[in-house]
Amino acid sequence: AQQQQVQVAAEFKLVVVGDGAVGKTTFVKRHLTGEFEKKYLATQGVEVSQVVFYTTHGPIRLVIWDTAGQEKLGGLREGYYIGAHCAIIMFDVTSRISYKNVPKWHKDLTRICENVPIVLVGNKVDSKDRKVKARQITFHRKVNIQYYDVSAKSNYQYEKPFLYLLRRLANDPNLALVQALALLPPEIQIDPQYAAQLEKELENAVNQPIPDEE
Ligand code: GDP
Ligand code: MG
Repeated sequence: AQQQQVQVAAEFKLVVVGDGAVGKTTFVKRHLTGEFEKKYLATQGVEVSQVVFYTTHGPIRLVIWDTAGQEKLGGLREGYYIGAHCAIIMFDVTSRISYKNVPKWHKDLTRICENVPIVLVGNKVDSKDRKVKARQITFHRKVNIQYYDVSAKSNYQYEKPFLYLLRRLANDPNLALVQALALLPPEIQIDPQYAAQLEKELENAVNQPIPDEE
């Protein structure tokens, strides 16, 4: 069936990168509305979904590019990055190697996309088996990009990366959503006390010096 296309004020391409199995697809697929408009671009080997965010600047469409698994074999093709207006680099806080590879993803991305807003997200913070602690996450400070803890499965901080990117794209730090995102219900709950602890740890981490190794 044809999906009604919403008249939007603006449209941007968002690329999602990071190691295999960090949760990129789980994260992208939580948008209930995006599901209907998902397309598989066989030529690129990517899944593209379109999600409309209703904001104080009008409806803004993000055309979200997710890989079809080719990141497991190494880097992505240039075509994946070309024309991107913004990016999410994801790692998994239960996998040290996925964090260690973040600089590689950042380098691949910024080689093609110069000066686009980028958010680094550490996914799976619901896990009690966290290996990459808040104070060990320093890469974003070195390259001056935003960082958020997220958990795709619990919807924890789900809006944060999108809101940050939309604000940067609209060039308005006060842009707000005027309609809640339609998301799949959480599969896991994050205990509010644990969430408060996560926030505290991130706050404290900002005051730590950045180690110069790497
Ligand atoms: P991708 O290869 O980066 O697209 O990763 P997937 O979305 O396929 O997810 C890889 C695995 O991580 C799957 O088994 C997911 O169920 C799991 N996963 C994704 N997000 C979360 C999360 O927030 N918390 C936990 N505990 N597991 C997750
Ligand atoms: Mg995937």
